[in-house]
Amino acid sequence: MPDSHDHMPQTKALTDTFGRQINYLRLSVTDRCDLRCRYCMAEDMVFLPKADVLTLEELYDLSKAFMDRGVRRIRLTGGEPLVRKGILSLIERLGDDVDRGLLDEVTLTTNGTQLPHMAADLYKAGVRRINVSLDTLKPDLFEEISRRNKLAQVLEGIRAAKAAGLEVKINTVALKGMNDGEIPDLMAWCLAEGLDLTLIETMPLGEIDDAREDRYLPLTALLPTLQDRWTLTPSGHRTGGPARYFSVKGHANRLGLITPLTGNFCDGCNRVRVTCTGRIYMCLGQDDHVDLRAALRSDDPEAELEAALGKAMLEKPKGHDFAMQNDRMVGTVGRHMSQTGG
Ligand code: SAM
Ligand code: SF4
Repeated sequence: MPDSHDHMPQTKALTDTFGRQINYLRLSVTDRCDLRCRYCMAEDMVFLPKADVLTLEELYDLSKAFMDRGVRRIRLTGGEPLVRKGILSLIERLGDDVDRGLLDEVTLTTNGTQLPHMAADLYKAGVRRINVSLDTLKPDLFEEISRRNKLAQVLEGIRAAKAAGLEVKINTVALKGMNDGEIPDLMAWCLAEGLDLTLIETMPLGEIDDAREDRYLPLTALLPTLQDRWTLTPSGHRTGGPARYFSVKGHANRLGLITPLTGNFCDGCNRVRVTCTGRIYMCLGQDDHVDLRAALRSDDPEAELEAALGKAMLEKPKGHDFAMQNDRMVGTVGRHMSQTGG
């Protein structure tokens, strides 16, 4: 394998004004989804006109521009990335770049519904790890949370992913009055299935039908319940991402906690997010963004992209402002998580 940084023109590396180097891209490939999770979307979402959405070719060109500037990992997200028509062709191209040493990893975050028929092809395309979002193992509750009756499909998808050789991590949003009582059982299931579990606090992104505060569950309040059942030791494991990990005595798998509200995690931020319309958001929790689509579609994409990415680095904020103040969630941003990609 070639030295992973051989190809990287150092002058172009993406470094922000706080000295954080960007080596991780979350690329949303669609804002559409076959579920309607209550904390993520409203039931009646207005989706983007197709013409505004980057083509698969443009998504690849953009990925390549980031790779040329030192990005080593790309996570495809959405919306639901696996409902994007032709997505495998993009994943195959990125998988080839992994083979050629231009990228360390191509991965994705998925709701799992398409995995029964896509898991084997994902492995073939070069994906080795995926995150699957799963908030409950109870069919009725799954339908209540996601507004769709697809738990069996998701569980079949997780089985198919494991059978195909993919490493699966489960992401669970902790929701007061919904899955909070079930989280210890969900964790026991993950450990029995050999899956890492990451719990996430719900974040104030976009208008939804429910009041977010009603569902907000601080993970600091949940941790003691899990500690009653397992011996959890803070682990040095880091991915450069927001999760803090614990090892679980007697088990090979880890527990991760993402605590945007109870513990800010922005100091070591190594990532940017790009929407399926080519807007780069330098922080999940801020509205600052730069339009890369205009650069991509200009007469001189290379120069325009260089300028746009330079501007983005100057504007990357120190961190998000999500917080609870007097029982109200503050630091809210207007766009939905399904727009920016999780
Ligand atoms: N559809 C895919 C999925 O569900 O995994 C990928 C996109 S989804 C927006 C990515 C992740 O964001 C999921 O794990 C989801 O649970 C999480 N998410 C969505 N809205 C959220 C919110 N408001 N607060 C915290 N996590 C959220
Ligand atoms: Fe779709 Fe993922 Fe949002 Fe659920 S969390 S509605 S699966 S994009």
